[in-house]
This record gives sequence, structure tokens and C-alpha cells, in this order.
Amino acid sequence: MGYLGGFLVSLRQMGKRQRVTKQYVKDEGGKATKPVRLHGRHVLNRYEDGMEKCIGCELCAGVCPARCIYVRGADNPPEDPVSPGERYGFVYEINYLRCIHCDLCVEACPTEAITETKLFEFSFTNRSDAIYTKDELLVGDDGRPQMLPWEDWSDLEDVVAHTSAWVRATAPSGSAAYEGRVGWSGELGFGVRPPEDGQTADPEGAEAVRESIPAADRHEGDDGEHADGGWH
Ligand code: SF4
Ligand code: SF4
Repeated sequence: MGYLGGFLVSLRQMGKRQRVTKQYVKDEGGKATKPVRLHGRHVLNRYEDGMEKCIGCELCAGVCPARCIYVRGADNPPEDPVSPGERYGFVYEINYLRCIHCDLCVEACPTEAITETKLFEFSFTNRSDAIYTKDELLVGDDGRPQMLPWEDWSDLEDVVAHTSAWVRATAPSGSAAYEGRVGWSGELGFGVRPPEDGQTADPEGAEAVRESIPAADRHEGDDGEHADGGWH
């Protein structure tokens, strides 16, 4: 008999003024400003010289709670290496029917290869479009994400400018010694990104904190690169 309650709700609504579904904000004078750290669709980044950042280590796939990343690494061909490492991402796929945009893959990646853009407006009509391949995820020769037919790129500049927002916002270990310091590698088309706006809420206060840290621990002039070629 419990289902009768549902019918009663419907009956009470009959004859009342028709309700209209609120139109999508895009049709009402522009989209809302998105948070800097919004997690949208991923990109696979490249270094400034065009080499791919992915080294095929599969850490992103291992940490993904939705098990939607499939990676296979392969040895770099010595005569024509794809990445600076020993190996590169030979196969890379993300299944967007399963991804929950938690960003754990971005956090786990040791080379900043996988990051998330602000693009979230995309829809598919078949399963194969929902599974993004490496060719689709890899940024183009200008360092920009590739625009796929089923994605809405009407706010292109906003999306592209923040392609690597999450990495830019992350300081090593959250240490005050790194406030305002760049600890990430350069990207094709963008170079080395500056510290994120607002990373240092109080520049004078941050400077005071830095001054209070022993000189050896301050990382002055530290661009993040180690002598062995690795990065923080
Ligand atoms: S954002 Fe989260 S769910 Fe999506 S691919 Fe990355 S780890 Fe998996
Ligand atoms: S995207 Fe990063 S974590 Fe994933 S396989 Fe490539 S290098 Fe490893």
C-alpha cells in the first residue's frame, strides 16, 4: 500500500501551476566562473621540447579508485625516444563512464604528465567516445588540449589557461619554505608556469615565515630540478 503515497503526491500537484525546468546557466547570460582547482577532463602533458612527460609507470592506474585508467609502458626507442625516461606511455586510456574526477591520478603522477583541465561539458552517444585514448588526451604541438567534437570549448581561453591548475597549486609537502616558489617543470606552449595567484595569501607574512627558516632549508633559487635530472 506504500505506493499510494506516491500517487497522492502526484494528485496533489495536478491542477497547480506548471513548473518550468530552470534553463542551463549558459543560456542565461554566460557561464558561472569556475573555481581555479575545478577537476575536469584530463590531458597528457609534454615538456617544452615536445617530449611526452608520461614515463609509463602506471602509478596513476594503481591509485585510481574507479579503475578507469589503462596504461601500458614500453621501452623508449634509443634512436627516437618519446619521453626523457627509460620508458614511455605506449597505451593510455581513461574511461569517462567511470571517472569520478577525484584527481588522485594527478597527485600520484611523478612527472606531472597527467593533469586535469577545467573542461567538464562533454557528452557521448557511444561507449568508444567515452574512452579517451592517448592520441586524444595528449596535448597538441602548441601545448593545448585537443578539442574533440563532443566537447563544448566555447570558453576555450579559461579552460586552456588553467590546464595544469592542480599541479600549480601544490607546494611540496605544504612547507612554508616553498610559498611562492615554482616546483614544477615547464610545459610545451606555456614554459614554466608562475606560482598560482593567491598561493601566497599574505606575501609579507610569507616572506617573514621564509626568513625564519634556516638558510639551508629555504630552497632559495631552487627551480625544482635535481642534479640527477629528476624533479621534486
Ligand atoms: S580523476 Fe580519479 S577516478 Fe578519474 S582517472 Fe583520475 S584517479 Fe581515476
Ligand atoms: S601519467 Fe604519470 S603516473 Fe600515469 S603512467 Fe604516466 S608518468 Fe606514470
